[in-house]
Amino acid sequence: MNAPSRTAPISTQGMTAFDHPEFSGHEQVVFAHDRETGLRAILCVHDSRLGPALGGCRIWPYATTEDALRDALRLSRGMTYKNALAGLDLGGGKAVIIADPRKDKTPALMRAFGRHVARMNGSYITAEDVGVSAEDMEDVARETAHVRGTRATGLGDPSPYTALGVFAGIRAALAHVNGTDSLSGCTVSVQGLGHVGFDVARQLKAAGARLIVSDIHQPAVDRAVAELEAVAVSPAEAHAVEADVYAPCALGAVLNAVTIPQIKAKIVAGAANNQLATPADGQALKDRGILYAPDYAINAGGVISIALATPGGDDALVREKTLAIGTTLTRIFQRAEAEGLTPETVADRLAEERLAAAGK
Ligand code: NAD
Repeated sequence: MNAPSRTAPISTQGMTAFDHPEFSGHEQVVFAHDRETGLRAILCVHDSRLGPALGGCRIWPYATTEDALRDALRLSRGMTYKNALAGLDLGGGKAVIIADPRKDKTPALMRAFGRHVARMNGSYITAEDVGVSAEDMEDVARETAHVRGTRATGLGDPSPYTALGVFAGIRAALAHVNGTDSLSGCTVSVQGLGHVGFDVARQLKAAGARLIVSDIHQPAVDRAVAELEAVAVSPAEAHAVEADVYAPCALGAVLNAVTIPQIKAKIVAGAANNQLATPADGQALKDRGILYAPDYAINAGGVISIALATPGGDDALVREKTLAIGTTLTRIFQRAEAEGLTPETVADRLAEERLAAAGK
């Protein structure tokens, strides 16, 4: 058999990895298979200029290999920016396993994935993501040391750190707009009262804010009303209420052509990933004079806790780096204003500048 040409592309249903619209200079794209378990995974290292690539492993029943590749490449590049902006000495990467987490996930599958992570010899460090539990990561850790968020290396659930960073970010946004970060007398609409959202609401209340809350899960709403004296609205109204801050802590794409004209708050700052439906929506917020805290900047507390957790459980460094999210956002807001740019454009530039400096 002839050896494949050195430049032969990896083909995925007509699309090649090298020519893929989301390829964006990836350093490694590994298609991993395990004969025994049927594991099919894609492990990506986007950029290692700042250090080994840290990014979670997602298990999802992708309809096609192309769907899985697109998601892996997009998420992996996103981690490069998130880790760089969070001040971590870590690059960006991601893994996806093509499987249904409810039907196909077994300890053997996770161990097979762990063996492939081990083969990457530390260029990629894995962690939890959608479809993967802390228990699953313990199975992965039986095969490789290149895993974070386990009992041995982690501080446990990253959500409290994500919430701490979001709270710091809301204060930074208030300081930029009002000249003071005081929450006293401010009204915040918290959309989504899950692991992160409820904790954000609790901290806001303790700092003197009035809360408007919404969730599709009624018990979470009832709890916030009872414990935090919050006023409940329907999730569909959360963005449009009279408030100083709108904090999306549930789903992505909540900032779009329909919602943006209805927002009354002067600040949008929350934990949800991928809040802007399209890049044009960032410009639309700016045009309306609404200050937007870029999602990947404000919600980095979780990845900071995973990256910097120490076996002893001392979280002083994690808290320090997480609270620094407020300082980073202040820099972003000031530069955006000075240069007439959107905050998310400035966030990308700050990350790119750090990467370029590391590459020299
Ligand atoms: P979660 O699943 O614990 O909570 C999400 C909450 O949103 C749930 O209570 C759910 O009922 C509610 N919800 C779902 N659809 C809704 C809707 N249409 N309107 C209102 N509420 C709705 O998730 P989480 O860990 O709290 O994460 C929240 C968001 O923050 C997600 O977008 C997540 O990707 C992002 N995020 C989380 C972390 C973390 O450390 N957990 C880190 C970074 C980003």
